[in-house]
Amino acid sequence: MLKKLLKLVGVLFLALIVVLVVNTFRGNRVLPKYTVEGTPALNDTAALHLSQAIQIKTISFGDTLAIDTVEFIKFKSFLETSYPNVHAKLARQSFNQFSYVYKWTGKDTSLQPYVLMAHMDVVPVEAVAESKWTVPSFSGTIKNDTIWGRGAVDDKVSVIAILESVEQLLKQNYTPNRTIYLCFGHDEEISGKRGAKVISNWLKEQNVKPALVLDEGGQIDTKHFKQLNRPFAVIGTSEKGYANFDLSVEIPGGHSSMPAAETAIDVLNKAILNIRAHSMEPAITPTMQELLDRTKAAESFGKRLVLSNLWLFKGLMINQLEKSKETNAMVHTTLVPTILHSGIKDNVIPTVAKATFNSRILPGQTSEDVLNFVIKAVNDDRVVIKKQTISLMEPSPITSYDNPEFKKMEQIIYKTVPDVIVSPFLMIGATDSRYYRSFSDAVLNFSAVQDVKGFHGIDERIGKTDLNRMIFFYNQLITK
Ligand SMILES: [Zn+2]
Repeated sequence: MLKKLLKLVGVLFLALIVVLVVNTFRGNRVLPKYTVEGTPALNDTAALHLSQAIQIKTISFGDTLAIDTVEFIKFKSFLETSYPNVHAKLARQSFNQFSYVYKWTGKDTSLQPYVLMAHMDVVPVEAVAESKWTVPSFSGTIKNDTIWGRGAVDDKVSVIAILESVEQLLKQNYTPNRTIYLCFGHDEEISGKRGAKVISNWLKEQNVKPALVLDEGGQIDTKHFKQLNRPFAVIGTSEKGYANFDLSVEIPGGHSSMPAAETAIDVLNKAILNIRAHSMEPAITPTMQELLDRTKAAESFGKRLVLSNLWLFKGLMINQLEKSKETNAMVHTTLVPTILHSGIKDNVIPTVAKATFNSRILPGQTSEDVLNFVIKAVNDDRVVIKKQTISLMEPSPITSYDNPEFKKMEQIIYKTVPDVIVSPFLMIGATDSRYYRSFSDAVLNFSAVQDVKGFHGIDERIGKTDLNRMIFFYNQLITK
């Protein structure tokens, strides 16, 4: 009897191995091979224009009173002098003074237009960080074929690359088939409410239904997926949701010389720890699944075996993804305390303690799901929990990777970058393009850069090769 049983277990085990191995080989997509065309030489003035753009301090501060509008006026005249054809031939409209839309009317106005987005504002450089920069942060220094300074990557390079590309085409008297809107915001780093949001509402009012909205977000990655041994271009096809939750505890305080067993701070503290000790159910979203499928063929046999048999190894895969904070954020709705308020004096026990949690919500879940999770994790009636409505954004709809505009971008990337793998991905941070997701089927996030550094940090810089590739990318998008 025991022998029979052992035999059966053995046979089942063998069958399992066969299934696992067959799945591993069966589901493998062949990695694409395309002929890469060289990009034309970089226009001499392009790097100079980016350098000049960096030198104008269009800084967005959280405290809007600190914003220097003179710099934004300077930026406007810089654009006018640097791109004379754009300003002579395209219709420009301003929004809240410093955000602009340029309309380039196409030959066939029955075609759905494109919207090419970028933002002109940058984040500040902290005083303590300034001395750590190799060159002054707003110098726009060009050395070793690299352009240095705040905004070199985020996102002045997009403004410049779009305009360089359009200016060159206008010089050749080119007219695009479809209408193209160039939409440049001036407050992306502080929510985009006065720029991109207003522009997107205006386009909606004009009944504009863009075939494509392209904004910053994805790039050609060579750092995070080293095991692929290939450049990996990720195109953002959706954004996580954004919600804040306020927790508040009110318990009469008193003199700190005779504290009660539990104070408002203690109760709030427990609530915070309880939320942080749990996490919402992880999920491999359809976008993540597609990313894993597309990269599989370049992975090791062991990884391929796991990826091809997620019916068995899903837990293992999720554990793996949870190990880094970036990939963890791709499989989880995250929740983290970002603001704490309590206390006014060292010897007074405060009556009120408050915390704000910021949450980034995975597609497939909603802010109500997060609220219910928080209530359950806290499990204490003394903690009043409220969802803020002002900054609330549910997870965005997902642009399909079968959309023709996604496929077109994919082809341009294959043509431009040797051995590249292209994949859709979920944006874990928010961009201005979120305002467009309700009225365009294809909102995509991508910049054709491969080796940029210092985004929001020290020594932000971009090489001329990347700048050139970006200009070429926009050229192809407009002309093909
Ligand atoms: Zn940006």
